[in-house]
Amino acid sequence: MPGWIVPPPKKPTKSKEEFEKERFAKVKKLGRQGYLRSRRIRDALLRVPREDFILPEYRDYAYLEVPLPLPGENATISCPHSYPLFYEPLGLDEGHKFLEVGLGSGYGSAVAREVVGPDGFVVSIEIDPVTFEFARRNLEYAGYKDIIVVRGDGGLGYPDLAPYDRICVTAACVEVPPLLMDQLKVGGKFIAPLVEGGIQYLVMLEKEELRVRRRVLCEVLYVSLRGICGSSKE
Ligand code: SAH
Repeated sequence: MPGWIVPPPKKPTKSKEEFEKERFAKVKKLGRQGYLRSRRIRDALLRVPREDFILPEYRDYAYLEVPLPLPGENATISCPHSYPLFYEPLGLDEGHKFLEVGLGSGYGSAVAREVVGPDGFVVSIEIDPVTFEFARRNLEYAGYKDIIVVRGDGGLGYPDLAPYDRICVTAACVEVPPLLMDQLKVGGKFIAPLVEGGIQYLVMLEKEELRVRRRVLCEVLYVSLRGICGSSKE
């Protein structure tokens, strides 16, 4: 992926205990760096074994700050700090009904599932059939059986379970998908990388009764959204 240097594939060697150590160290560091503030998101990151969502040949790099390739076309698991980067400003919390567009490895949906708890739910949509199957297997193996995974175009959202408290798009959009805003509750929050003048910005929208409040958070680098709201109109 341009902009990131992916380490070379290799045979995995690390044990469960080594990964666990790395996970704790990573979470501590994300706290020190200011990405991670809320207890629920911190606990969720500690609970989900990120290494189980990564291809064997990249598994040893699970806690490096790089996105790693996934099976399918142009899919990556985002780097570890991306998850608090999105979920903290979203204020993702217990009981939320959460929609993710871009299931990828399934890791982000597993973290969200831990955050929202039994009173909330997570729906995640993936457009690439190969990536979708990879995520489905990862989630099953890791024991996340009640995440609602949908194969299709996330630009259409998932009206069956709308409205959502929080919506997150993990691929870069050229415009805010209008159907996603329709499926967001009043008082709800939406976050996505948006492309403007060739640069991607992480943008958060808060839907109020009569208007939408917009906050630009930082520059980011994500794979492009495909489908009806994608730039290539695939
Ligand atoms: N959240 C993921 C990272 C996903 S990378 C994780 O934690 O691993 C972005 C993903 O969005 C890719 O898998 C890509 O195939 C998917 N994608 C791109 N356009 C999409 C669309 N219109 N609908 C659903 N998924 C899409």
